[in-house]
Amino acid sequence: MSVYEAVIGLEVHVHLATASKLFCSCPNSFGDEPNTNVCEVCSGMPGVLPVLNRKAVEYASRMALAIHATINQHSRFARKNYFYPDMPKDYQISQFELPLCEHGWLDITVNGQKRRIGITRIHMEDDAGKNIHPQGENVSYVDLNRAGTPLIEIVSEPDLRSAEEAVAYLKKLHAMVVSLGISNGNMEEGCFRCDANVSIRPKGEKKLGTRTELKNLNSFRNVQRAIEFEIARQSDVLDDGEEVIQETRLYDANRNITAPMRSKEDAQDYRYFPDPDLLAVVITDEELASWAATQPELPEARMARYMGDFQLPEQDAEQLCADPHLAVLFEKAAKLCSQPKKVANIMLGMMMREINQSGIDSAEVKISAEAVAELVTLIGNGTISSKIAADIFPELMKGETMPAKLVKDRGLVQVSDTGAIDAAVQKVLAANPAEVEAYKGGKTKLISFFVGQVMREMRGKANPALVNEALSRHLGQA
Ligand code: ADP
Ligand code: MG
Ligand code: ZN
Repeated sequence: MSVYEAVIGLEVHVHLATASKLFCSCPNSFGDEPNTNVCEVCSGMPGVLPVLNRKAVEYASRMALAIHATINQHSRFARKNYFYPDMPKDYQISQFELPLCEHGWLDITVNGQKRRIGITRIHMEDDAGKNIHPQGENVSYVDLNRAGTPLIEIVSEPDLRSAEEAVAYLKKLHAMVVSLGISNGNMEEGCFRCDANVSIRPKGEKKLGTRTELKNLNSFRNVQRAIEFEIARQSDVLDDGEEVIQETRLYDANRNITAPMRSKEDAQDYRYFPDPDLLAVVITDEELASWAATQPELPEARMARYMGDFQLPEQDAEQLCADPHLAVLFEKAAKLCSQPKKVANIMLGMMMREINQSGIDSAEVKISAEAVAELVTLIGNGTISSKIAADIFPELMKGETMPAKLVKDRGLVQVSDTGAIDAAVQKVLAANPAEVEAYKGGKTKLISFFVGQVMREMRGKANPALVNEALSRHLGQA
């Protein structure tokens, strides 16, 4: 068995959040009745002319600026010819020889190691519609609402060396497009899609191995698992003395495998040629300067600001800024209660747990910044313990009640009355004489047992610091 090195390059398709489609004025929106956002242009009628949406050019350029790329102020659209029922023009309008953007990069950090990943190009293109195959029905439908909506494709260099790096790169791109406001980034809806090109080669070898292209990766987790599977599969193929076949493979998340879908087509199969219906895309110096001057804050800059202004540790800042929705919520809450570290702890602890468990998108988090700030204040001033805060957090995530009201309605205010705590401590010690003996005999670890019993006695509402204090006082005396 040889030792292999994985080589990965990603092609990422980002759906742009413009009001209308790329070449017509149909609404660019999701979830509408099928075939309601369709006109002569996006349904491929003969004799109509496409007109380029300038906003899409701006959005694509903003992404190019974010990755330090060269923007070609003259670029061109090309026809990529193939047949598919959800693409009535029989060609996709894309960019081939002269893309909008080339030679970019972004940095990722994995296991403390920083690496710069090259970005070959970003080009604009229109999306296809959707084929629908309802289960149990012997028909297929075509919905053209998505046909002609704007995409950018971001193509990386084959610079990634592991599934972790691929996911780190992808998360970074994702945070960028959402921060820029050019896409909603929703992976499940297919607004942020990724194909992974994977090959392996003996460690030390310079030449690239034969790659496969993985499709159907609709979550970060699936990207990770599909690449890991594919690296292992290709290693087995080579170990058996066979050759990897260049092909497109489909990832099956239920079985966690990749399976062949079709042999890989080459560029020449698409018969690319410049689209005669469209003028060259020209970006003026003035446009470029004005976009550069109005770029929204990007995750890296935001992270530096959080470490400076809010004194957050690097790890906290990085995790929060990886998700622009969470970052915005954090910032608002931190300003409201002036306890940024406490806000970060709650968000990266309780909130992350809830988000991961329920599988919701961070964009759908309903708890308000006001509620987070109020919760931090309630813990800080001793009204509730962190334990109680954690208990009520799932309820707060629904965004229907404010913490102070919930705590009051449920009678959860923390008891700091030392008389009541003393009484509970005495009761617990009296009820557990054997444990008290053992404690005095040196089993000091039993303190947590006593704390637990007192908390139970007081239905979780006792102030933990005061319980500890009372226990050591009583155990010392007794
Ligand atoms: P296409 O898939 O459309 O034929 P490209 O030649 O532009 O397009 O390559 C697409 C992606 O495949 C790029 O991200 C590139 O970095 C990556 N890639 C190319 N060769 C390899 C390889 N041998 N191993 C892994 N990735 C590769
Ligand atoms: Mg490809
Ligand atoms: Zn249209």
